[in-house]
Amino acid sequence: MRTLVLNAAYEPIHLVTWEKAMCLVVTAKAEIVAEYDEVVRSVTQIYKLPSVVRLKRFVRSFRRTMNSRCTRRNILLRDRLTCQYCGDRMNHQNVTIDHVKPRCRGGTTVWDNVVAACHSCNRRKADMTPDEAGLRLMKIPRRPSWIDLLEESHRELINSWLPFIINKAG
Ligand SMILES: [Zn+2]
Repeated sequence: MRTLVLNAAYEPIHLVTWEKAMCLVVTAKAEIVAEYDEVVRSVTQIYKLPSVVRLKRFVRSFRRTMNSRCTRRNILLRDRLTCQYCGDRMNHQNVTIDHVKPRCRGGTTVWDNVVAACHSCNRRKADMTPDEAGLRLMKIPRRPSWIDLLEESHRELINSWLPFIINKAG
């Protein structure tokens, strides 16, 4: 069970285990904003597990800057391991990173120029632009929001968290 930690301004800071979130609450560093249905029992009491907690002091939302670096890991998270040309799902072993405007033509590793691609699309595209190779991008690559960069398992939780978050796509 994961708990979303917000700063005092309701900006997402990070994800922690529910045990750690409970710790923050018990030590009065955070307050519970939302709970899961699941409970944990102590000798004398029953507690609902926190799904969202809010820190009482202000912490700058670093997740946004930290996680928006254009690294291989983040590109694959943004594109959900899906080839952006043919739509095939891949795994970490057979996925490649494609430069939409090829590097040999001055294309750089920036968010709007890199996509996840399967081997066969990458080979077909080679040093060409998508147009020249007869390939079409499924969507225009762009800088991801922090939500785009959550692991798949965490993403499923996002719907239940969204009502508590102010900067949804920040
Ligand atoms: Zn492909």
